[in-house]
Amino acid sequence: MTEEMRTQETPTRSTNSGYQVPILVYHRVHPDDDAPPVIAGERCGHVVLSTFVRQMSYLQYHDFSVITYRELYDWLRVEASLPPKPVLIDFDDNRGAVYDYALPVLAEHGWPATCFVITALADGKLPEPEHDGSLWYTAMDWQQLERLCEAGWTIGAHTRTHPNLRKLAEAGCHADIRAELRQSREDIERELGVTPFCFAYPGGEWNEVVEEAVGQLFATARHWYVDSPFRYVTRRTNPLRLPAQNISEFLSFADFVAFVEQTAAGDAMSG
Ligand SMILES: [Zn+2]
Repeated sequence: MTEEMRTQETPTRSTNSGYQVPILVYHRVHPDDDAPPVIAGERCGHVVLSTFVRQMSYLQYHDFSVITYRELYDWLRVEASLPPKPVLIDFDDNRGAVYDYALPVLAEHGWPATCFVITALADGKLPEPEHDGSLWYTAMDWQQLERLCEAGWTIGAHTRTHPNLRKLAEAGCHADIRAELRQSREDIERELGVTPFCFAYPGGEWNEVVEEAVGQLFATARHWYVDSPFRYVTRRTNPLRLPAQNISEFLSFADFVAFVEQTAAGDAMSG
């Protein structure tokens, strides 16, 4: 029997083909009494710990299933079904506050998340943003990332130095794009012994030139959005254009609930 025949004989598990899968993207989780200010009109890249705990408790008590990018990809390729109420939890930029505050909460729930790593940050080779002596923006190093792997997390690539890839493409710097992608993959392989499967576009910035380069090295690639209407992954979504919602203190709890609860087929946009 050929491989193709075997594939054809596999019964199509289409029972949840109408799902809409929400992806939650966090950047940092800070203690309530030591968090950067939330300033109207500015981008806010964090939630405070009590917000994060409340959101995760909501997912637990309402029977959500936290899934991985591998599971999502297999479902997109119609090779696997998904559990009820699937959701993904992402953390971009390997910030130390995620290790300190989000990891213990997720460990209590027994859930995996995905950390998209800026590898030069893990190497200590990128300058930290200026701050007033707090630990708001410290980076996770490779040892901490190794512990995430041990906790069942997925490590994804997020370039080496977090450039705006769309701008690089528009400037014709295609070799720089390829180097950022290839080096980030090599850094993760060398330091953690795993080959990253998924990628997140820095700042959600991309164009088709970037997408083509990303598709040479990674199976999935993810954007993020801060606005509404909320966007979901559906069976029709291109794996290199996965949409996600950035979760910050600007998102009300009611909107968080509205976002995650639209997991059945509906009218929301897919990316
Ligand atoms: Zn980022």
